[in-house]
Amino acid sequence: MQVITTQGIFNTNMRTFWLSLFTAIIAVSCSTYHPKELSFFSSNAKETRRISLKNNDSLEVTYLGCGGLKISYHQSDILIDPFFSNQGPFYSLPLKKISVDTPSVLSNTKTWSPPKFILTTHAHYDHIMDIPVLVDSVFHHQTTIFGNKQTISILKNFQVPDSLCNSITTDQLNKWVEINEQLRFMPLAYGHAPHMRIFGLPLNFMAKHRDSLSTPPKRTKDFPEGDCLAYVLEFRNDEKSVFRILLMNGSASEKLDINAIPKGSIDLAVFCVASHNFTKTNAYPTNYIQTLNPKNILFVHWENFFKPHSHQPQKAVPFTNFRSLNKKLKMSTYNPENILMMNPMSTVTYHFYNTENEAIATTPQR
Ligand SMILES: [Zn+2]
Repeated sequence: MQVITTQGIFNTNMRTFWLSLFTAIIAVSCSTYHPKELSFFSSNAKETRRISLKNNDSLEVTYLGCGGLKISYHQSDILIDPFFSNQGPFYSLPLKKISVDTPSVLSNTKTWSPPKFILTTHAHYDHIMDIPVLVDSVFHHQTTIFGNKQTISILKNFQVPDSLCNSITTDQLNKWVEINEQLRFMPLAYGHAPHMRIFGLPLNFMAKHRDSLSTPPKRTKDFPEGDCLAYVLEFRNDEKSVFRILLMNGSASEKLDINAIPKGSIDLAVFCVASHNFTKTNAYPTNYIQTLNPKNILFVHWENFFKPHSHQPQKAVPFTNFRSLNKKLKMSTYNPENILMMNPMSTVTYHFYNTENEAIATTPQR
Protein backbone atom coordinates (compact mmCIF):
# COMPACT_ATOMS: atom_id res chain seq x y z
CA MET A 1 0.00 0.00 0.00
CA GLN A 2 1.31 3.39 -0.93
CA VAL A 3 1.39 5.88 1.94
CA ILE A 4 1.18 9.53 0.90
CA THR A 5 3.08 11.65 3.37
CA THR A 6 3.15 15.41 3.78
CA GLN A 7 6.72 15.24 2.59
CA GLY A 8 5.47 13.43 -0.51
CA ILE A 9 2.97 16.10 -1.37
CA PHE A 10 5.42 18.96 -0.80
CA ASN A 11 8.12 17.39 -2.93
CA THR A 12 11.00 19.43 -4.26
CA ASN A 13 9.09 20.70 -7.33
CA MET A 14 6.08 21.83 -5.31
CA ARG A 15 8.29 23.50 -2.72
CA THR A 16 10.14 25.36 -5.48
CA PHE A 17 6.82 26.46 -7.04
CA TRP A 18 5.34 27.80 -3.79
CA LEU A 19 8.62 29.42 -2.78
CA SER A 20 8.87 31.17 -6.19
CA LEU A 21 5.26 32.33 -6.02
CA PHE A 22 5.70 33.64 -2.46
CA THR A 23 8.98 35.39 -3.39
CA ALA A 24 7.33 36.93 -6.48
CA ILE A 25 4.42 38.20 -4.39
CA ILE A 26 6.74 39.77 -1.80
CA ALA A 27 8.99 41.24 -4.51
CA VAL A 28 6.11 42.81 -6.43
CA SER A 29 4.51 44.04 -3.18
CA CYS A 30 7.74 45.81 -2.25
CA SER A 31 8.44 47.36 -5.64
CA THR A 32 5.25 49.32 -6.25
CA TYR A 33 5.08 52.63 -8.06
CA HIS A 34 4.89 56.12 -6.65
CA PRO A 35 2.09 58.39 -7.95
CA LYS A 36 4.55 61.24 -8.66
CA GLU A 37 5.30 59.31 -11.88
CA LEU A 38 1.91 60.49 -13.13
CA SER A 39 1.48 64.04 -14.46
CA PHE A 40 -2.17 64.13 -13.33
CA PHE A 41 -1.44 63.27 -9.69
CA SER A 42 -1.92 66.10 -7.19
CA SER A 43 -0.67 65.98 -3.61
CA ASN A 44 -2.80 69.04 -2.71
CA ALA A 45 -5.49 68.37 -0.11
CA LYS A 46 -7.77 70.76 -2.03
CA GLU A 47 -8.05 70.99 -5.79
CA THR A 48 -10.34 72.85 -8.17
CA ARG A 49 -11.36 72.18 -11.74
CA ARG A 50 -13.58 74.21 -14.08
CA ILE A 51 -16.16 72.57 -16.31
CA SER A 52 -18.08 74.33 -19.05
CA LEU A 53 -21.79 73.68 -18.47
CA LYS A 54 -25.04 75.55 -19.06
CA ASN A 55 -25.28 76.76 -15.46
CA ASN A 56 -23.08 78.36 -12.79
CA ASP A 57 -22.73 76.09 -9.80
CA SER A 58 -20.26 73.80 -8.03
CA LEU A 59 -19.98 70.28 -6.70
CA GLU A 60 -17.40 68.78 -4.32
CA VAL A 61 -15.90 65.32 -4.46
CA THR A 62 -13.79 63.95 -1.60
CA TYR A 63 -11.71 60.86 -2.24
CA LEU A 64 -11.89 58.73 0.91
CA GLY A 65 -9.40 56.02 -0.06
CA CYS A 66 -9.98 52.64 -1.79
CA GLY A 67 -13.17 53.00 -3.85
CA GLY A 68 -14.66 55.51 -1.39
CA LEU A 69 -16.10 58.89 -2.38
CA LYS A 70 -18.18 61.58 -0.71
CA ILE A 71 -20.04 63.71 -3.27
CA SER A 72 -21.46 66.96 -1.91
CA TYR A 73 -23.94 69.14 -3.79
CA HIS A 74 -26.17 71.87 -2.33
CA GLN A 75 -25.55 70.78 1.29
CA SER A 76 -26.37 67.14 0.78
CA ASP A 77 -23.97 64.24 0.45
CA ILE A 78 -23.89 60.88 -1.26
CA LEU A 79 -21.40 58.22 -0.23
CA ILE A 80 -19.92 55.49 -2.37
CA ASP A 81 -18.07 52.49 -0.82
CA PRO A 82 -16.80 54.31 2.32
CA PHE A 83 -13.86 52.39 3.88
CA PHE A 84 -11.22 53.36 6.45
CA SER A 85 -10.32 50.01 8.11
CA ASN A 86 -7.21 49.05 6.14
CA GLN A 87 -6.13 45.63 7.34
CA GLY A 88 -2.36 45.36 7.04
CA PRO A 89 -0.06 43.37 4.74
CA PHE A 90 -1.60 41.70 1.71
CA TYR A 91 0.15 38.36 2.23
CA SER A 92 -1.16 37.92 5.79
CA LEU A 93 -4.81 38.68 4.94
CA PRO A 94 -6.09 35.24 3.95
CA LEU A 95 -4.95 33.86 7.31
CA LYS A 96 -6.11 36.47 9.76
CA LYS A 97 -9.43 37.63 11.14
CA ILE A 98 -10.27 41.09 9.87
CA SER A 99 -12.10 43.72 11.86
CA VAL A 100 -13.47 47.26 11.62
CA ASP A 101 -11.02 49.95 12.76
CA THR A 102 -13.67 51.95 14.61
CA PRO A 103 -11.32 54.79 15.74
CA SER A 104 -10.24 55.29 12.10
CA VAL A 105 -13.86 55.29 10.87
CA LEU A 106 -14.98 57.76 13.55
CA SER A 107 -12.00 60.13 13.31
CA ASN A 108 -12.43 60.46 9.53
CA THR A 109 -16.19 61.00 9.64
CA LYS A 110 -16.90 62.86 12.91
CA THR A 111 -18.15 66.04 11.22
CA TRP A 112 -20.32 64.29 8.66
CA SER A 113 -24.11 64.58 8.42
CA PRO A 114 -26.18 61.60 7.27
CA PRO A 115 -25.91 61.31 3.48
CA LYS A 116 -28.96 61.06 1.23
CA PHE A 117 -27.88 57.46 0.57
CA ILE A 118 -24.89 55.14 0.30
CA LEU A 119 -24.18 53.36 -3.00
CA THR A 120 -22.08 50.19 -2.92
CA THR A 121 -20.41 48.56 -5.90
CA HIS A 122 -19.88 45.01 -4.58
CA ALA A 123 -19.52 43.06 -1.35
CA HIS A 124 -15.72 42.80 -0.91
CA TYR A 125 -14.61 43.84 2.58
CA ASP A 126 -12.82 46.99 1.36
CA HIS A 127 -16.11 48.35 -0.01
CA ILE A 128 -18.71 47.55 2.65
CA MET A 129 -17.14 46.51 5.97
CA ASP A 130 -17.31 49.96 7.62
CA ILE A 131 -20.92 50.67 6.64
CA PRO A 132 -22.58 49.10 9.74
CA VAL A 133 -20.48 51.27 12.12
CA LEU A 134 -21.04 54.38 10.03
CA VAL A 135 -24.79 53.82 9.82
CA ASP A 136 -25.10 53.12 13.53
CA SER A 137 -22.58 55.42 15.25
CA VAL A 138 -22.24 58.35 12.84
CA PHE A 139 -25.54 58.53 10.92
CA HIS A 140 -27.82 57.15 13.66
CA HIS A 141 -29.82 55.14 11.13
CA GLN A 142 -30.75 58.24 9.09
CA THR A 143 -29.55 57.02 5.71
CA THR A 144 -30.25 54.18 3.32
CA ILE A 145 -27.96 51.81 1.45
CA PHE A 146 -28.19 50.42 -2.09
CA GLY A 147 -26.17 47.42 -3.23
CA ASN A 148 -26.16 43.99 -4.77
CA LYS A 149 -27.92 41.04 -3.11
CA GLN A 150 -24.71 39.75 -1.52
CA THR A 151 -23.88 43.16 -0.01
CA ILE A 152 -27.33 43.53 1.50
CA SER A 153 -27.22 39.99 2.92
CA ILE A 154 -23.85 40.71 4.63
CA LEU A 155 -25.01 44.09 5.99
CA LYS A 156 -28.10 42.50 7.50
CA ASN A 157 -25.83 39.98 9.24
CA PHE A 158 -24.04 42.96 10.76
CA GLN A 159 -27.43 44.05 12.17
CA VAL A 160 -28.08 46.89 9.70
CA PRO A 161 -31.90 47.23 9.89
CA ASP A 162 -33.89 45.85 6.95
CA SER A 163 -35.63 49.22 6.54
CA LEU A 164 -32.30 50.84 5.51
CA CYS A 165 -31.25 48.14 3.03
CA ASN A 166 -32.17 48.21 -0.67
CA SER A 167 -31.10 45.30 -2.81
CA ILE A 168 -30.73 46.22 -6.50
CA THR A 169 -32.53 43.69 -8.69
CA THR A 170 -31.74 42.68 -12.27
CA ASP A 171 -34.93 44.51 -13.40
CA GLN A 172 -33.45 47.79 -12.15
CA LEU A 173 -30.28 47.56 -14.26
CA ASN A 174 -29.89 50.24 -16.97
CA LYS A 175 -32.94 52.12 -15.63
CA TRP A 176 -33.16 55.25 -13.52
CA VAL A 177 -33.90 54.86 -9.83
CA GLU A 178 -35.63 58.15 -8.94
CA ILE A 179 -34.76 59.48 -5.47
CA ASN A 180 -36.42 62.91 -5.79
CA GLU A 181 -36.82 65.66 -8.41
CA GLN A 182 -33.16 66.65 -8.06
CA LEU A 183 -31.50 63.28 -7.84
CA ARG A 184 -31.53 59.90 -9.52
CA PHE A 185 -29.10 57.08 -10.34
CA MET A 186 -28.83 54.23 -12.83
CA PRO A 187 -27.20 50.92 -11.81
CA LEU A 188 -25.13 49.13 -14.48
CA ALA A 189 -23.79 45.59 -14.20
CA TYR A 190 -20.20 44.56 -14.89
CA GLY A 191 -17.61 41.93 -14.00
CA HIS A 192 -14.85 42.35 -11.39
CA ALA A 193 -11.29 42.22 -12.84
CA PRO A 194 -9.00 39.44 -11.54
CA HIS A 195 -6.79 40.45 -8.59
CA MET A 196 -3.74 39.15 -10.47
CA ARG A 197 -2.70 37.28 -13.59
CA ILE A 198 0.06 34.68 -13.65
CA PHE A 199 1.19 33.61 -17.13
CA GLY A 200 -2.06 35.11 -18.46
CA LEU A 201 -4.27 33.11 -16.11
CA PRO A 202 -6.67 35.17 -13.96
CA LEU A 203 -6.40 34.78 -10.17
CA ASN A 204 -9.18 35.86 -7.82
CA PHE A 205 -8.50 35.83 -4.10
CA MET A 206 -12.15 35.98 -3.03
CA ALA A 207 -15.26 34.05 -4.02
CA LYS A 208 -17.95 35.49 -6.28
CA HIS A 209 -21.08 34.26 -4.49
CA ARG A 210 -22.06 32.46 -1.32
CA ASP A 211 -25.62 31.31 -0.88
CA SER A 212 -26.36 31.70 2.77
CA LEU A 213 -24.69 33.87 5.33
CA SER A 214 -25.93 33.55 8.86
CA THR A 215 -23.23 35.34 10.85
CA PRO A 216 -21.14 38.47 10.29
CA PRO A 217 -18.09 37.60 8.12
CA LYS A 218 -14.70 37.45 9.87
CA ARG A 219 -12.24 36.80 7.04
CA THR A 220 -11.74 38.29 3.56
CA LYS A 221 -13.06 35.12 1.91
CA ASP A 222 -16.38 35.62 3.74
CA PHE A 223 -17.02 38.78 1.67
CA PRO A 224 -17.87 37.27 -1.75
CA GLU A 225 -18.30 40.04 -4.31
CA GLY A 226 -21.75 39.28 -5.79
CA ASP A 227 -22.59 40.97 -9.10
CA CYS A 228 -20.45 44.09 -9.42
CA LEU A 229 -22.31 47.38 -10.01
CA ALA A 230 -21.34 50.69 -11.57
CA TYR A 231 -23.67 53.72 -11.44
CA VAL A 232 -24.55 56.85 -13.32
CA LEU A 233 -25.47 59.48 -10.75
CA GLU A 234 -27.45 62.47 -11.99
CA PHE A 235 -28.15 65.81 -10.29
CA ARG A 236 -31.15 67.58 -11.80
CA ASN A 237 -32.85 70.97 -11.94
CA ASP A 238 -36.14 71.81 -13.69
CA GLU A 239 -36.29 68.24 -15.01
CA LYS A 240 -32.94 68.64 -16.77
CA SER A 241 -29.55 67.11 -15.99
CA VAL A 242 -27.19 69.50 -14.17
CA PHE A 243 -24.24 67.15 -13.61
CA ARG A 244 -23.78 63.49 -14.46
CA ILE A 245 -21.15 61.21 -12.92
CA LEU A 246 -20.16 57.71 -14.04
CA LEU A 247 -19.01 55.73 -10.97
CA MET A 248 -16.76 52.75 -11.74
CA ASN A 249 -15.28 52.76 -8.22
CA GLY A 250 -15.53 49.01 -7.59
CA SER A 251 -13.13 47.41 -10.00
CA ALA A 252 -11.50 47.74 -13.37
CA SER A 253 -13.50 45.92 -16.04
CA GLU A 254 -14.02 45.82 -19.77
CA LYS A 255 -17.47 44.29 -19.37
CA LEU A 256 -19.53 47.36 -18.47
CA ASP A 257 -22.61 47.76 -20.68
CA ILE A 258 -22.56 51.47 -21.55
CA ASN A 259 -25.33 51.40 -24.15
CA ALA A 260 -27.79 52.99 -21.72
CA ILE A 261 -25.49 56.03 -21.25
CA PRO A 262 -26.09 58.81 -23.79
CA LYS A 263 -22.84 59.64 -25.62
CA GLY A 264 -21.10 62.84 -24.50
CA SER A 265 -23.33 63.14 -21.43
CA ILE A 266 -20.79 62.33 -18.68
CA ASP A 267 -19.36 65.36 -16.87
CA LEU A 268 -17.15 63.30 -14.56
CA ALA A 269 -16.04 59.68 -14.95
CA VAL A 270 -14.63 57.95 -11.85
CA PHE A 271 -12.41 54.98 -12.68
CA CYS A 272 -10.84 52.36 -10.40
CA VAL A 273 -7.10 51.97 -11.00
CA ALA A 274 -6.44 48.71 -9.09
CA SER A 275 -6.05 45.72 -11.44
CA HIS A 276 -6.45 47.87 -14.59
CA ASN A 277 -3.54 45.88 -16.06
CA PHE A 278 -5.24 42.52 -15.37
CA THR A 279 -8.33 43.08 -17.55
CA LYS A 280 -8.54 40.64 -20.45
CA THR A 281 -7.40 42.88 -23.30
CA ASN A 282 -5.89 45.69 -21.17
CA ALA A 283 -8.20 48.18 -22.92
CA TYR A 284 -9.66 49.55 -19.66
CA PRO A 285 -10.21 52.47 -19.02
CA THR A 286 -9.34 53.97 -22.41
CA ASN A 287 -12.12 52.01 -24.12
CA TYR A 288 -14.69 53.95 -22.03
CA ILE A 289 -12.77 57.23 -22.31
CA GLN A 290 -12.86 57.02 -26.10
CA THR A 291 -16.51 56.02 -26.32
CA LEU A 292 -17.98 58.30 -23.65
CA ASN A 293 -15.53 61.24 -23.87
CA PRO A 294 -16.20 62.41 -20.28
CA LYS A 295 -15.48 66.09 -19.51
CA ASN A 296 -13.34 65.13 -16.49
CA ILE A 297 -11.80 61.98 -15.04
CA LEU A 298 -11.03 61.11 -11.41
CA PHE A 299 -8.95 58.01 -10.63
CA VAL A 300 -9.67 56.16 -7.36
CA HIS A 301 -8.73 52.84 -5.67
CA TRP A 302 -5.10 53.39 -6.61
CA GLU A 303 -3.17 53.48 -3.32
CA ASN A 304 -1.70 50.64 -1.25
CA PHE A 305 -4.62 49.95 1.10
CA PHE A 306 -2.67 47.13 2.77
CA LYS A 307 -1.04 49.93 4.78
CA PRO A 308 -2.89 51.97 7.42
CA HIS A 309 -5.40 54.53 6.09
CA SER A 310 -3.50 57.80 5.65
CA HIS A 311 -3.93 61.29 4.21
CA GLN A 312 -0.24 61.27 3.20
CA PRO A 313 1.22 60.35 -0.20
CA GLN A 314 1.23 56.60 -0.75
CA LYS A 315 2.51 54.12 -3.32
CA ALA A 316 0.38 52.13 -5.73
CA VAL A 317 -1.63 49.10 -4.63
CA PRO A 318 0.57 45.98 -5.12
CA PHE A 319 0.62 44.49 -8.64
CA THR A 320 -0.96 47.60 -10.20
CA ASN A 321 1.20 49.23 -12.85
CA PHE A 322 1.08 53.05 -13.06
CA ARG A 323 3.47 53.19 -16.01
CA SER A 324 1.20 51.12 -18.20
CA LEU A 325 -1.79 53.27 -17.14
CA ASN A 326 0.15 56.38 -18.18
CA LYS A 327 1.07 54.79 -21.50
CA LYS A 328 -2.55 53.87 -22.25
CA LEU A 329 -3.74 57.41 -21.41
CA LYS A 330 -1.08 59.01 -23.60
CA MET A 331 -2.11 56.80 -26.51
CA SER A 332 -5.76 57.76 -25.99
CA THR A 333 -4.81 61.48 -26.53
CA TYR A 334 -7.29 62.52 -23.79
CA ASN A 335 -6.33 65.92 -22.35
CA PRO A 336 -4.31 65.15 -19.15
CA GLU A 337 -5.42 68.49 -17.64
CA ASN A 338 -8.89 67.01 -17.24
CA ILE A 339 -7.59 64.00 -15.30
CA LEU A 340 -7.01 63.95 -11.54
CA MET A 341 -5.71 61.49 -8.96
CA MET A 342 -5.44 62.61 -5.31
CA ASN A 343 -4.40 61.29 -1.91
CA PRO A 344 -7.14 59.88 0.34
CA MET A 345 -9.20 62.55 2.17
CA SER A 346 -8.43 65.19 -0.51
CA THR A 347 -11.24 67.19 -2.07
CA VAL A 348 -11.76 68.52 -5.57
CA THR A 349 -14.33 71.22 -6.30
CA TYR A 350 -15.77 71.17 -9.80
CA HIS A 351 -16.86 74.71 -10.66
CA PHE A 352 -19.32 74.78 -13.52
CA TYR A 353 -19.32 77.90 -15.62
CA ASN A 354 -21.69 79.01 -18.32
CA THR A 355 -19.73 79.91 -21.46
CA GLU A 356 -22.50 82.26 -22.63
CA ASN A 357 -22.42 84.23 -19.34
CA GLU A 358 -18.61 84.37 -19.40
CA ALA A 359 -18.70 85.71 -22.95
CA ILE A 360 -21.08 88.48 -21.86
CA ALA A 361 -18.93 89.29 -18.80
CA THR A 362 -15.73 89.55 -20.81
CA THR A 363 -17.16 91.54 -23.78
CA PRO A 364 -15.59 95.06 -23.68
CA GLN A 365 -18.15 97.77 -22.79
CA ARG A 366 -18.63 100.42 -25.47
ZN1 LIG B 1 -13.29 44.02 -5.10
